[in-house]
Amino acid sequence: MANETHSLGAIDMWHRTVIQGENWTGELSTQLRREVPPMASWIVRGGCAVQCQHCIFPEEGPKAFAPRISEEVILSLLAQLSEGDNGRRTLVHEGRQLLPWQVPIMAAAKRAGHSVTVINNGQYATPAMLALCEREGLRLDALDVSIDGPERIHNQQRNEFGTGKTVPAWAWAMKGLAEGRRIADKLTSLFTLTSLTSEYVAETGRIAGDLVEQWHISPLTVRPGIEHMAPTEAQMAEALNQLAGLQLENTEIHLRSYSLAGFIALSKAIGIETVRKALPKADVTYNGIVLDVGFTKLHFYPKSLQCNETVVVDADAWWRLPFSVAHTLGQLEAGVSAEGEDLTHFSIAPLSAELDVAEVYARSVETWWKAIGLKSFNEERDAVGRLLG
Ligand code: SF4
Repeated sequence: MANETHSLGAIDMWHRTVIQGENWTGELSTQLRREVPPMASWIVRGGCAVQCQHCIFPEEGPKAFAPRISEEVILSLLAQLSEGDNGRRTLVHEGRQLLPWQVPIMAAAKRAGHSVTVINNGQYATPAMLALCEREGLRLDALDVSIDGPERIHNQQRNEFGTGKTVPAWAWAMKGLAEGRRIADKLTSLFTLTSLTSEYVAETGRIAGDLVEQWHISPLTVRPGIEHMAPTEAQMAEALNQLAGLQLENTEIHLRSYSLAGFIALSKAIGIETVRKALPKADVTYNGIVLDVGFTKLHFYPKSLQCNETVVVDADAWWRLPFSVAHTLGQLEAGVSAEGEDLTHFSIAPLSAELDVAEVYARSVETWWKAIGLKSFNEERDAVGRLLG
C-alpha cells in the first residue's frame, strides 16, 4: 500500500476502506492534512434577510470584529489554494448580503484567473448592484439562487431577520434569476428537501428547469431546533418518486447529500438493493462519491473529509477551519456552541497576506481529525458497511 500512497487522494482512501474493505485509515488522515482546499467561502455578514427555516447559518447581526478584507489578502489566500477539478481556484461568495465594496475584490479575483461564484437569495439584483458589477467587469462563473417550492411554500419558509415578518422572498429569488444572466455565465438553483418541501419536487423542478442550467436537490442538514423539518421516510419516498418521473430538457439534475443521515435516508428511499449495487462502482470526485442509481446520480460528501472542501473567510477577515458555518464567530472564539457543545477543535484567526495556508490548514485538520474526523469516518464505515450487508 505504501507505494501507492502518493497517487491516492483522501477520498480514494476513504472509498477503498469504507466500500472495498481495504484499510487505509492511518494514511487517510496524513493525506487529508496535505489536501489544501481548492475553494474559499467568503461569508462576511451575519443576518441574511430571508432567514430560511432550514438555514444552517445561525442568526447573528452584522459583524464588526475586523477591518474589511483587502484585495491583496484575498488574492494571497486564493493563490495558495489547490487547483480544483476545473484547474482553477474558486472564490465563492456564500449567501447573505452581497455588498458593493466586495464587487471590485471579486472582479480582481476573476482577473487573476480564479473562478468566482455567488450564492444569493436574489436581493443582490438592484439596479445599482447590477450596474456596479458591469462597471467593474465582474462576470461570475456561476450564480446560485435557491427556490424551495412554488411561491407559497418558498415564502412560508422565510421570515425577516430580527422581526419574524414574512418577506417577498419569492419575488427576490425570481428577480435574482431573471437578472442573473447580466452578470453570470451559468445559473444554478438549490432545492432543500424538507418535510415542508418534499411534495413539491416535480413542481419546483419544472420551475427551475425554465430558469437554470443546474438544479441541485439536497436533504436538509439537521441542526438542533429543526429536527421536525427532516422529511419522514414516506415523504422522502414520495420526493424520490417525483424526481424519478421528472424530465428536464435543458437542466442537469444533481441529488446531493452532505450528511450521513441524509445519504442513508436517500438510500432507503431509492432502494437498498440499488444502492448496494451502485456503491462498489461509485465514481470518486475531489471530496465525494457519485453513485449511478438509474434515474439520477447520487452525490455523497462524507463529513470525515469535509475539511478539504473550503477555507471559510468570515467576519470580513478571519479564516476558520474546517467548515463550521453552523456556529457564530463569537461561539468559535469562546470554544462553546449555543447548546454548550465543545467547539475547541475548530481553528480561527485573522487572515493576512503573510498567512501560510498549507501550514495552518494541516495544523487545523490534525486537531479536528482527532476530535471529529476519525469519529465521523468510523460512523461512515459502519453505516455503509450495514448498507452493503
Ligand atoms: S438564503 Fe441561504 S443564507 Fe439566507 S437564510 Fe436562506 S439558506 Fe440561510
